[in-house]
Amino acid sequence: MSAKQKALIIGAGVAGMACAIRLATNGFKVTIFEKNDYPGGKLFVLEKDGYRFDTGPSFFVEPENIEELFDLAGEDIHEYLAYKRIDVACKYFYEDGTVINAYADQEKFAQELEQRTGEPFQHLISYLTESEKIYNDIGNVFLNYSLHQRKTWKQHAILKALISVRPRYIFSTLHEINKKKFGNPHVVQLFDRYATYSGSNPYLAPGMLMLIPHIECNKGVFYPEGGMMSINKALYNLALKKGVVFKLTSPVQRIIENKHKAKGIIVDNQRILGDVVISNADVYFTYNKLLNRNYEAKKILKLERSSSALIFYWGIKKEFPQLNLHNIFFSKDYQSEFNSIFITKAPFDDPTVYINITSKMEKGIHAPKGKENWFVMINVASNMQVSRDEIIMVYKKNILAKLNRILQTDIEPLIEIESVLHPKMVEEETGSYMGALYGTSSNSIKAAFLRHPNFSKDIHGLYFTGGSVHPGGGIPLCLKSAKITADMIMHDYKINKHE
Ligand SMILES: Cc1cc2nc3c(=O)[nH]c(=O)nc-3n(C[C@H](O)[C@H](O)[C@H](O)COP(=O)(O)OP(=O)(O)OC[C@H]3O[C@@H](n4cnc5c(N)ncnc54)[C@H](O)[C@@H]3O)c2cc1C
Repeated sequence: MSAKQKALIIGAGVAGMACAIRLATNGFKVTIFEKNDYPGGKLFVLEKDGYRFDTGPSFFVEPENIEELFDLAGEDIHEYLAYKRIDVACKYFYEDGTVINAYADQEKFAQELEQRTGEPFQHLISYLTESEKIYNDIGNVFLNYSLHQRKTWKQHAILKALISVRPRYIFSTLHEINKKKFGNPHVVQLFDRYATYSGSNPYLAPGMLMLIPHIECNKGVFYPEGGMMSINKALYNLALKKGVVFKLTSPVQRIIENKHKAKGIIVDNQRILGDVVISNADVYFTYNKLLNRNYEAKKILKLERSSSALIFYWGIKKEFPQLNLHNIFFSKDYQSEFNSIFITKAPFDDPTVYINITSKMEKGIHAPKGKENWFVMINVASNMQVSRDEIIMVYKKNILAKLNRILQTDIEPLIEIESVLHPKMVEEETGSYMGALYGTSSNSIKAAFLRHPNFSKDIHGLYFTGGSVHPGGGIPLCLKSAKITADMIMHDYKINKHE
């Protein structure tokens, strides 16, 4: 291969940077063009009056996806990123006063469920055993290969995976399966929640999503020192070390296409030519704005968007010893809540509230002494209406009412500083259509497993990577997406992988 092959990447999200590292390690000359003046996309930080908040992702799982990148690049990850497994993955609060600690240790978690809800110990053990089996037999294969290439389907592993797909994983919803597996409604709700990891509705999403609890409950939840922003910094520094050039504040205006071949991009009205163009921008916007291909763009919208989020970043002038790093305050009527997110798209008066508090992990760094940094998030529709001030106020009132009830404290007077992130801001800041967090939802088997491919079927030399294409959103899947895309490029350009 000529060492001069030029790869142009649009967007410095997690997947854009990971793909850049892989290609640079394999001899490509890589330049990333990012519209913002910072890398990281949805993974960023907000600092205000002595408080710091990770603005986007907060659950860190499967660090092996990042470790693999550092191994490939011949660098010691520990020089870039420190992280540890946490003992309680998440603390769950219910309106009737029930509190459940989801311990990282399977037996301890099973005992906790039995003690707090009466759910027999063995139910959790057999559920997590099945979850692990689906992950190993099916998930691992579907998440690591392109499903849009004929050669994938000829592989023995894929055939084996297909054979192990039980009808109930396809024809039953995640909620239906959970209801069969557990007797206690609180436990069912706890495991229904995993549909939200792909921005989906457990009452519609296929039972196959039962593989997700394995990731969190068996493999564990991790905390990166310095917060999630440290992952962004680690990827950025590794990319720089491998010679990747970052052009920040450089929005790409067009992809140059000629006779079904991607020739380069237009930035600041300048033509920049390359051998390969990779879009880490949302695939809908890539077709709609960068290629002006409205037919393909509309086709993408046929698949439902994932949910979005409304987040309040609150500096709280008090410590709450009863809270943990990850906390969930469940709604009483989960099904109605998902109807409001995916069907009526209207505010729900009793939303499930997630609070992430990194000051629990590193005292004095994320919040002033004696105070806490609350990242308060609810799932909302990917819908611009949610971003209207008066609607945000309704959601805020509902969140405060819920927290006041469960924590038996008047929270509002404790809020020292406040910032908000709503779907319109997610769209403006990261280019995700309608502020969807994970591209498309997984509310049907087609949506879950047949997202847009990592390559263009029609434009040679154009590839895609990130949360809006296969295998999906969330940091682990975005890192897998980067691997699939980079491997495909290496194959297409006949490059022997450096491993
Ligand atoms: C509030 C929130 C909470 C989340 N929680 C979690 C979580 O707990 N755990 C988890 O794993 N995941 C979580 N996610 C999802 C996760 O953050 C995303 O899936 C992941 O970060 C997406 O990465 P990406 O590489 O696909 O691209 P993005 O982060 O979307 O980045 C795309 C980049 O492309 C740039 N771009 C777009 N158009 C152009 C253009 N024309 N020219 C140049 N640049 C352009 C954008 O500016 C952006 O930087 C969350 C997301 C949000 C927003």
